[in-house]
Amino acid sequence: VFRIFKKSRGESKDIIYVSLVQAIQRGGCPICRLVSEAEEHSLRSLLYEHVNDPHMRKKIVESMGFCPYHFWMLVDLALEDPALGGGLGPAIILEDLISRYLNGYRNPTSECFLCKQRREFDEIYTKSFAEKIKQTDLLDRYRDSRRSVLCRKHFNAVMDALANEEWRKRLEDVQCSKLAELLELLKRYIDKHDYRCREPITREEGEAWIRAVEFFAGYRYLLVPKRVRGF
Ligand SMILES: [Zn+2]
Ligand SMILES: [Zn+2]
Repeated sequence: VFRIFKKSRGESKDIIYVSLVQAIQRGGCPICRLVSEAEEHSLRSLLYEHVNDPHMRKKIVESMGFCPYHFWMLVDLALEDPALGGGLGPAIILEDLISRYLNGYRNPTSECFLCKQRREFDEIYTKSFAEKIKQTDLLDRYRDSRRSVLCRKHFNAVMDALANEEWRKRLEDVQCSKLAELLELLKRYIDKHDYRCREPITREEGEAWIRAVEFFAGYRYLLVPKRVRGF
């Protein structure tokens, strides 16, 4: 990784550009997907090897575990991936927390560290998306990947970060034509439910309503059951 960084220093098509392009190709909101992946990576590495790490444990104790969202994400992940040791990692963390609770430690003194980390990743990827639009062919790649649509929140954030009317207009045009296409797919999906219609529903049409939810709500990686993760 270091070599890649070194080689690409000063160039605009660096490792962040590559991550953004790959996320665009996978479909959905590229920023949501990258943030979710980073979040899942942090939780996995916590369960794999950092449950007993004093520094990590301190952070967890200070926030009295995690926020409800990340606590349940930890449960989902531990149950879903047997390689993570099942409930052992969470049990070690919770044994500590319950003992402290009984000893009078009842109020968290800091925020869930995964929420904090999530915000940081969000900011990095949003800023980078805007930067790479100005410096590289990222906007063309985004336009050309039909399944990729920035969610409402990340579209607004990238628009703010662009801080340039001309680039904002370009991104807005691309975004609106993506949404017009999504609208068309939704209409076709609805029309094809008419009993007189003999044409089968395509995969794209079948996915359209979930894509539309992602546009309004963003993506929640781990809370999507595995069988539909392809969306
Ligand atoms: Zn998003
Ligand atoms: Zn959290």
